[in-house]
Amino acid sequence: MKQFHAIAIDGPAGAGKSTLAKRLANELGYVYVDTGAIYRTVGYYIWICGIGGKDADGVRRLIDDVNVAIEYPGDGLQHMLLNGKDITGEIRTPEISMYASQVSAHKCVRDFLLDTQRDLAKTHNVVMDGRDIGTVVLPDADVKIFLTASPEVRAKRRWLELQEKGAKDTYEQVLADQLKRDEQDSTRAVAPLKQAKDAVLVDSSNLTLDETAARMLAIVKEKLNA
Ligand code: C5P
Repeated sequence: MKQFHAIAIDGPAGAGKSTLAKRLANELGYVYVDTGAIYRTVGYYIWICGIGGKDADGVRRLIDDVNVAIEYPGDGLQHMLLNGKDITGEIRTPEISMYASQVSAHKCVRDFLLDTQRDLAKTHNVVMDGRDIGTVVLPDADVKIFLTASPEVRAKRRWLELQEKGAKDTYEQVLADQLKRDEQDSTRAVAPLKQAKDAVLVDSSNLTLDETAARMLAIVKEKLNA
């Protein structure tokens, strides 16, 4: 019998995965694992080293110098440590979003991070969100949800979030970046973004946050027989 439960939430950029996965984890008393932050940490390292995210040789050369650690100090945030330094706040810029998407297409990066993600699920009940959790990282997850919304709705939500932080990006820029990232993430050869065959689709285009959260919780309860 499995010791721990795992809930996999995948979907494109800006679908609200982190907000909803975190909320679900709180409701269930599980650990929320944001795997995008792990890829962002690697992207950030490649960026500060001045290497292009698509430079396969450069990324391969640097990947062994990366030490990624995840900490949950209890402030509600998943803290990312890069070679011992807390860079949680630095990885949320549009530039690092694009870098994360580029470096995550390299097989050496995905291989490097696979065990880190799987180990967390071996030792905790988790709600893990990302792009390939239900398909590659945790194919035996107890519940799989593919969370999506129309590109325009997702871009609008992300744009409003950025505006609250005082960023100057226009809606058009956010939409264009997001479409590019979706295209990169779903067409890459290794672990592309796609719905697992046994995942339940939740389209939040016409749902409020509360409605989406309620739907996700209902799916989880039904699957876990809770
Ligand atoms: O979810 P978030 O937008 O923070 O992810 C940043 C990037 O990391 C994504 O665009 C995607 O390319 C990559 N990623 C991935 N696999 C995951 C999580 C994120 O390739 N499981």
